[in-house]
Amino acid sequence: MKVCWIGLGNMGLPMAGHLRDAGHDIVGFDLSPGARSAASAAGVPTADSVETAADGADVVCTMLPKGEHVRAALLDSGVLDISNPEALVIDCSTISATDARDIGSAVAATGRRFLDAPVSGGTTGAQNGTLTFMVGGARADLEAARPLLEAMGARLFHAGELGAGQSAKMVNNMMLAMNMQSTCEAAVLAQRLGIDPQTVIDIAGVSTGDSWALRNYYPVAGAVDAAPSSRDFAGGFAVTLMRKDLGLALDAAAVHGIDATATAEVARRLERLIDEGRGSLDFSALIQLVDGTVGA
Ligand code: NAD
Repeated sequence: MKVCWIGLGNMGLPMAGHLRDAGHDIVGFDLSPGARSAASAAGVPTADSVETAADGADVVCTMLPKGEHVRAALLDSGVLDISNPEALVIDCSTISATDARDIGSAVAATGRRFLDAPVSGGTTGAQNGTLTFMVGGARADLEAARPLLEAMGARLFHAGELGAGQSAKMVNNMMLAMNMQSTCEAAVLAQRLGIDPQTVIDIAGVSTGDSWALRNYYPVAGAVDAAPSSRDFAGGFAVTLMRKDLGLALDAAAVHGIDATATAEVARRLERLIDEGRGSLDFSALIQLVDGTVGA
């Protein structure tokens, strides 16, 4: 299978690596020359233009920051024209369900197939090939995509029609953001009370305070070796990207008349970190507004 992979960032590069390992003929592209060099160094072949990467591709995958980037990469470029006329286009980015439906319709108008297939599991899930995929679109297209998605993930859900994968991802990230905010507040309070971080994780991790954020991304350095907090919040899931996801959730909440007070507060805090020039840090840097490193 010839695969064109667009977006070789924190998530895209390790995901593309799994497709290469599964034996696919993959060519990657990223607007950033640095990302292309990192991909080459990691053994993922790259092209200098998106059109070259997409030439004759049976599958086109995108892993890009926002909807506008997915539109630019798929619709404003020559990618669709140059790929296989029956190509399967899979967007793994987190974008709005509305954008996913619009892009899907534009792809379908060219005779090609489109799935929204956002992921959960973070950069460690991408590296370990243990991501959860939540897919929107035709079930037959999901079945065609299954071998590829299973090479990158451990769990695969059909959420429903086009855009449903994005809706599922959006509500997941609402919960993740608030779990992280509550973990940050609890972690700082535990420290001030003299409780060791590992003790908090050991107890809450098997009790009613459990969450993915607690066990995998505990925001105190050294508590979880693989957590971004143990490497000065580098890599991971950027504050700007979580702010984007909460923006999507708040827009949807407004449309549906939902009181999303806690979501709005965490979004405000992420905005504060961005104002402080900390937008590229992992979102567990929310702890810096709790412990006073940055004024809330
Ligand atoms: P990232 O910023 O590390 O990587 C995005 C890459 O896309 C960058 O290298 C950038 O240069 C490239 N890019 C932007 N526009 C492009 C274009 N038009 N053509 C080609 N390349 C382009 O972001 P990431 O952390 O890999 O996240 C990607 C997506 O996955 C986002 O939608 C994010 O919300 C979602 N996501 C991230 C995580 C995580 O833990 N990082 C987890 C789940 C989902």
